[in-house]
Amino acid sequence: MQNKDIINFLNKNLLSVSKPGRYTGNELNVIKKNQEEVLFRIALCFPDVYEVAFPYLGFQILYHIINKHPRWAAERVYAPWVDMENLMRQKNVPLFSLETKTPVKEFDALGFTLQYELHYTNILNMLDLSGINPLRTRRNEDDPLIIAGGPNAFNPEPMADFIDIFVIGDAEELIVNVINCIIESRKNGKNKRELLIELSKLDGIYIPDFYEPVYNTGGFQTGIKKIYKDAPERIKARIVPDLKNSYYPDKPLIPLIDVSHNRFSTELMRGCTRGCRFCNAGYIYRPVRERNTEDIYKHSIHSIKNSGYDEISLVSLSTSDYSSINTLIGIFSEELRKRNLSLSFPSLRVDTFTSEIANFLSITKKSGLTFAPEAGSYRLRKLINKEISDDKLYQAVKIAIEKGWNLIKLYFMIGLPTETYTDLEDIKGIIEKILFIGRRNNRFRINVTISPFSPKPFTPFQWEAQDSIEKLKEKINFLRKMIKNKRVNLKWRDPRVSFLETVIARGDRKLCKVVYSAWKSGARFDSWSDFFKYDSWVSAFKENNIDPKSYSENWSYERFLPWSIIDRGFSEDFFWQERLKAFSGETTGDCRFISCYNCGVCSNLNVRMNIAEKQKIRYISGEIQKKIVKKQISKYRILYEKKDFPRFLSHRDTITIIERALRRASVPVVLTEGFNPHPKMIFGPPLPTGYSSSCEYLDIFVEKRYNIENKLGKINEFLPEGVSLKDIELNPEVPLSKVVAIDYLVITSNNYTVKIEPEKLLSENRTMIYKNTRKNKTIN
Ligand code: SF4
Repeated sequence: MQNKDIINFLNKNLLSVSKPGRYTGNELNVIKKNQEEVLFRIALCFPDVYEVAFPYLGFQILYHIINKHPRWAAERVYAPWVDMENLMRQKNVPLFSLETKTPVKEFDALGFTLQYELHYTNILNMLDLSGINPLRTRRNEDDPLIIAGGPNAFNPEPMADFIDIFVIGDAEELIVNVINCIIESRKNGKNKRELLIELSKLDGIYIPDFYEPVYNTGGFQTGIKKIYKDAPERIKARIVPDLKNSYYPDKPLIPLIDVSHNRFSTELMRGCTRGCRFCNAGYIYRPVRERNTEDIYKHSIHSIKNSGYDEISLVSLSTSDYSSINTLIGIFSEELRKRNLSLSFPSLRVDTFTSEIANFLSITKKSGLTFAPEAGSYRLRKLINKEISDDKLYQAVKIAIEKGWNLIKLYFMIGLPTETYTDLEDIKGIIEKILFIGRRNNRFRINVTISPFSPKPFTPFQWEAQDSIEKLKEKINFLRKMIKNKRVNLKWRDPRVSFLETVIARGDRKLCKVVYSAWKSGARFDSWSDFFKYDSWVSAFKENNIDPKSYSENWSYERFLPWSIIDRGFSEDFFWQERLKAFSGETTGDCRFISCYNCGVCSNLNVRMNIAEKQKIRYISGEIQKKIVKKQISKYRILYEKKDFPRFLSHRDTITIIERALRRASVPVVLTEGFNPHPKMIFGPPLPTGYSSSCEYLDIFVEKRYNIENKLGKINEFLPEGVSLKDIELNPEVPLSKVVAIDYLVITSNNYTVKIEPEKLLSENRTMIYKNTRKNKTIN
């Protein structure tokens, strides 16, 4: 099938699937290259649906790095939602890229990101939908190379039967090495095996075909042997010592539909050395590498101008731990106020949540603040190395309430090693105390999320048992009975999901068969509760004669760890010693503040901790008042059109796109008053999704000093193809709410005749307009 056939398929069928904007592409700042000039093409594949996957920063970083090369092209592919998948299978349409609508099978390589264990069946499904056999041994020379990376690649074994090469560690430099190696091998006429041999010479590349797991008679893995003699003994993870500014896109991709984190995100730092003993991310991204403060600021402001977003999110494992956080918010504050932007910190530690940070966050949007004490008792928090006292937590909550937050979100884990019911009662104690602190605020609420502990590779708790599903259910019920307050919204994760997550996370290569069987029996979108088919997984374990509990129970120190093939730099005994310290009540400090305790990462991977220099605070702390200046205002009416693929965007999404274009063109649209000011704009009656129109209207209110009349061309530069502003009128007389007529142009194929009976239409005192929707509703 050719690209033009896929475009035809989309034009004909998009209205029959949910959220058609997931498949249209054409986002702002999208990169489409001339295929004739491209030497190498890779499809970056995210195994979840568009709106969940889109905000993922790592994807955008790789997209930007690869596309920076004039003769390389990276395009994106997301998992189609089930309705689209059914349609594609029915009509024999293969999986295609968003940029050029190219069938995925035509790419030189596919790069999957392994973010979550419950995405694995989606990867098999995406390969199958592309016409590529999910099993690597069944693929041939013509198939694209299947690459996988991301945090879960640190235990590659449960996906080893499906992936050709795993990229272990930071991919910014490694992906460039991999592509160069592929191009060079191709130039030299090497076949796939010869290419794999070349790739295996790169640090950070694991090729499962070159290794074979060894099992004992009981079915437990006891080792892994090389079957290609020159393959490395262990795979050293790649790491970038410096988070260079050039890694980050200055023209980020901007979605045309609403996505889960619809804001500009930039990385503040990578790694965390707090050493929470359950946290896999904290260990696999060591050591801490902070970006330079000024780089973050300049890059963010530049990108925000290129995006039209109204929110910047500073991403890291613990944003308030950034060493120059006060300096950063100081230099940001003026600019944000001027542009009416907000800054969000997705992760805050209770003990580094200061009144400066609260002050700053309180001048922007006040959605809920999230704290993660993780455990109810101080004893258990010490055991997991998150030594936060109750007082520190209450102090943080007090600050938040004083600064105007009405919603606090709390995260707790249950089933942590040594946990007793007294520890669970302490969760209730914390909630009650926080309710007491917020008692004078009638609107004050707490959202509590309970997640089962899941022992993960590369953590001191990697040998621990996970509570059984029954035990976890019992503990959840215990909490539900105890925590009954209408101001508390208690949520919990399904223990079966957590169990499966643990089994796959600690899985060996035998698990590939289970993933394959589960997918064959219909498992996909397992991370979505509506689609989670636990029974398919139970049958898959049975079918392959595998006891899943053997992966979630307590493991002895002697047991071979399936991820031992990967060398993340930790000294041999580090995790075990940390585990022993946990059970003897000892904590380990943060090497940013105490001296290095030699976990091994820095010396073994030849990298050093990189802390942003402490800089002089340039802003005056204390309450920052919003200046209220009375402005002279002009009202304009704009005529715009919407056609081609953007016709599949909802009215709400169209508003967002136009708002962002106005922001990018620096049009000073005045803001509404109130708690959450937004641009003052009035749109005409919504155009139904799927309809093209050359005559849509919106009114905007602009500062009088600004002449918008000759700026339409500039604004249009920031709109996607298919949406454009056509005309403008100052001070329109008739309000948009007084629309008296709408012209429709009905285009039919040749075999239909449209019979119009104007007399009949006019003689009736009402007119029925029939519109076919997916549910065949008739709309009056
Ligand atoms: S080697 Fe030392 S400085 Fe580096 S991450 Fe480990 S403890 Fe911290």
